[in-house]
Amino acid sequence: MKKFLSVLLVLLMFAVAVPVLVNARSYSDDSETCWQCGGSGDCSTCDGSGTIEEYNSYSAEYEEIRCPDCNGSGHCSYCGGVGTI
Ligand SMILES: [Zn+2]
Ligand SMILES: [Zn+2]
Repeated sequence: MKKFLSVLLVLLMFAVAVPVLVNARSYSDDSETCWQCGGSGDCSTCDGSGTIEEYNSYSAEYEEIRCPDCNGSGHCSYCGGVGTI
């Protein structure tokens, strides 16, 4: 019975260690994550909304204008909205 328990313990350690190792490997592959949006694919200027608020000094109001960085698409201009480069 004691042997069965030690085998079970080893199996349990494997079950914990293997996902950690796999995660560590996929994490190191994240070097290709877009540095501008951090992998989200969203435009960093408008946060993916496609519009930004700009102060209009003539009307003294904030106006929603099309984001100049992504041209209104909301996608990161560096990776094109994919999140990786
Ligand atoms: Zn934008
Ligand atoms: Zn990006």
